Amino acid sequence: MTAVPQERKLVTAIPGPKSQELQARRLGAVAGGVGSVLPVFTKRLDGGILEDVDGNRLIDFGSGIAVTSVGGSAEAVVRRATAQLADFTHTCFMVTPYEGYVEVCEALAELTPGDHAKKSALFNSGAEAVENAVKIARAYTKRQAVVVFDHGYHGRTNLTMALTAKNMPYKHGFGPFAPEVYRVPVAYGYRWPTGAENCGPEAAAQAIDQITKQIGAENVAAIIIEPVLGEGGFIEPAKGFLPAIVKFANDNGIVFVADEIQSGFCRTGQWFACEDEGIVPDLITTAKGIAGGLPLAAVTGRAEIMDAPHAGGLGGTYGGNPVACAGALGSIETMKELDLNAKAKEIESLMKARLSAMQEKYEIIGDIRGRGAMIAIELVKDPASKTPNPEAAAALAKACHAEGVIVLTCGTYGNVLRFLPPLVIGEDLLNEGLDVIEAAFATL
Ligand SMILES: *Cc1c(COP(=O)(O)O)cnc(C)c1O
Repeated sequence: MTAVPQERKLVTAIPGPKSQELQARRLGAVAGGVGSVLPVFTKRLDGGILEDVDGNRLIDFGSGIAVTSVGGSAEAVVRRATAQLADFTHTCFMVTPYEGYVEVCEALAELTPGDHAKKSALFNSGAEAVENAVKIARAYTKRQAVVVFDHGYHGRTNLTMALTAKNMPYKHGFGPFAPEVYRVPVAYGYRWPTGAENCGPEAAAQAIDQITKQIGAENVAAIIIEPVLGEGGFIEPAKGFLPAIVKFANDNGIVFVADEIQSGFCRTGQWFACEDEGIVPDLITTAKGIAGGLPLAAVTGRAEIMDAPHAGGLGGTYGGNPVACAGALGSIETMKELDLNAKAKEIESLMKARLSAMQEKYEIIGDIRGRGAMIAIELVKDPASKTPNPEAAAALAKACHAEGVIVLTCGTYGNVLRFLPPLVIGEDLLNEGLDVIEAAFATL
């Protein structure tokens, strides 16, 4: 293993000739429905730098969508996964079990909020974890309805498409969708009609009113929410909203599910974003940052809820693959050793200070929000109208890419520029990436 030098360096235009050659092959062989933000083909990934096949080194503000929080080739992940690969690649946990799976479930019980008895089940992807959380909640409550929120994102399988709010690109043309899914308002402070201060309690009252009047609380199996909404635009539900929803769920025998697939594992400066308001979910779904880039996902929760489905009712051929479990143990080891929660908080203060300074110069930055290393700016035509400005988001992302900084957009209106740097990124690279973003604003 050779370390990737931690410096931005452009030796060709982006994408370079070798990437373009591979992209031409890709267009001939890979289905058009699978897109790429930036068609730069990767050679190596380490720390805060992605090195491409042309020898360019780009600053990574995306982490493969909040996955490689410990870096793309973290020492402990590579060491443990390599050792596991040499021993065995697969048995299927449902055929003959292995220790790594149990160890990951023990770690999840230790790290997730609450000191009640907990159990976990492991899967391959975030969507699969969310699907299984619904299965478990339905088996436990013997109810069917599932409540989700405006701007929510939960995946691309049929049930999780139904749970997801945004039509394009996630749902368009792919229906019919799973039934018994209901969407209610979320506390989106920046766009709440009566202002951010009133948003939390007002939005909670509206959501609860809709649930009781339109569905009936006694019919609801689960309420599922991202404690910081990811694809929907890094929306932090206004203070008071989540505790009110949790209380309503508890009072009515509804399973409260925190989808921490994007916000979990140190991303927001805490092991899980729901800790911010002291929330203890009944079930919690995790994936993305859990295993340093290897495909793994989990549902963790109260033992009596997790044990509700009959034996054999949960599982899957690859769920909790031993190499992915080894990767997760390496990732968790790294997070603890390097105190990546503290690192995420440092990233937040540095980024927010720099972005606030930019906001004073560029009034199209309507809102700066997020926590830890999950930070975003919402772009508007002007701060009074708050009309979404997706063109600016696209233009800024394009300018950053050309200068060797990988940034992503998101948001229901496509007008949010989001930053998800690896938590191990150096401060100099973080500042340099922000310099490039600032320069991109100047050329708008
Ligand atoms: C990414 C994501 C999912 C889906 O995860 P996949 O691994 O892509 O299936 C679900 N929920 C949230 C909050 C996510 O960010």
